[in-house]
Amino acid sequence: MENISDVIIIGSGPAGYTAAIYATRGDLQTVVLAGQTPGGQLMTTTDVENFPGFPEGILGPELMEKFKQQAERFGAAVKYESVQNIEIGAEKIFKVKTESGIYETRSVIVATGASAKWLGLESETRLRGKGVSACATCDGFFFKGKKVAVVGGGDSAMEEANYLTKFAEQVYILARGEQNKLRASKIMQQRALSNPKIKFFYNTEVKEILGDDKVSGVKIVDKKTNDISDLKVDGVFVAIGHNPNTTFLKGIVDMDEKGYIKIYDGSRTSQSGIFVGGDVADYHYRQAITAAGMGCRAAMDAINYLDQKS
Ligand code: NDP
Repeated sequence: MENISDVIIIGSGPAGYTAAIYATRGDLQTVVLAGQTPGGQLMTTTDVENFPGFPEGILGPELMEKFKQQAERFGAAVKYESVQNIEIGAEKIFKVKTESGIYETRSVIVATGASAKWLGLESETRLRGKGVSACATCDGFFFKGKKVAVVGGGDSAMEEANYLTKFAEQVYILARGEQNKLRASKIMQQRALSNPKIKFFYNTEVKEILGDDKVSGVKIVDKKTNDISDLKVDGVFVAIGHNPNTTFLKGIVDMDEKGYIKIYDGSRTSQSGIFVGGDVADYHYRQAITAAGMGCRAAMDAINYLDQKS
C-alpha cells in the first residue's frame, strides 16, 4: 500500500496549491500533478494587486512560485505531469493516469481551472500582459482615464465592460453578433446600453490588435459592409468565454452543459472521494483568492472523508 497516496491534487493554480498546503498540514501524503503549464492562469498575468497580503502588488508568476514553495515546505510532492484519465479501482482506490504512468490514491482534488478563450491572433499573443487581458477585475485598474475595447457579446463581455467604466473614460464593446441578437441576457445588455461610457459595435470582428510594445488600437471589420477601420484604444479585454479543463473526467463526475464540475455540498462532487476547487467549478467569481478559498475547502473535505473511511 506504500505507493498509494492519501490525496492527488490535479492542477497547480491557487486552488491546487492551497489544497496542497492544507492537505499536507492535515498530515495527508500529498501529490500535486501540476500539468505541463504549471501555475495556472496567473502565470500569464503581470501585476497582481488584489491578492491580500501584498500591499505593493506582486507579479503573477512570483505569487505562484510562493504558493508552490509553501506547499513543498510541508511535504507536497509536485510532479510536472498531465492527467489523461481516472479509473476507480477496488476499495475506491483511484488510478490516476498521466503520460508517464499511473498514480494510486485514496482521494482526488480536481483544481484544473478553466482556460480563457482567445481570438487566436498573433498580435493578441504578442501583446498579452501589454494591454491585452482576459480579466477586467485583475487589470481594469491600469486603464484609468483610458479607452478600452471589450471583445464579445455574452454576459461576461457586458459585465467586464460595465466594470471597466469605473476606470476607463470610454469602453467599446466589439460584438460579432447583430443588434438585439447578442448572446448576453437582456438585463445585462440593458445595463451596458444605458451606461453612457459604453459604445456598442455590432457585426464587428477584430482583425488585429495594433501596437508594438503596448496596445495602441484594434483593426476591426464590419461584417455587413466589409469596411475595415482602426479604433484607437489602450487596452483590449477578450471576453469570449472560458473552457473548464475537464475532458479527462467525462463519465466520472457530474458536470453542467458547459463542462464545469457540479458541486453538491462544500467541495464534494457526484463521486465520493473526488473533491473540487477553483475555476473548474466556478464560472462566476474566477479570482485567485476565491479559488484559493475553494482549494482550502476541498482539502478539509478530503481530510474529513479519509478520517471517516479509516
Ligand atoms: P458565452 O459563451 O455566453 O458568450 C461568448 C461570447 O463571445 C458570444 O457573444 C460569442 O459570440 C463571442 N465569441 C465567441 N468566440 C468568439 C470569437 N472567436 N470572436 C468574437 N466573439 C466570439 O460566454 P460568457 O463568458 O459571456 O458567459 C459564460 C457563462 O457565464 C454564461 O452562462 C453566462 O450567462 C455566465 N455569466 C453570467 C454572469 C452574470 O450573471 N453576472 C457574468 C458572466 C458570465 P456569438 O454569440 O456570435 O457566438
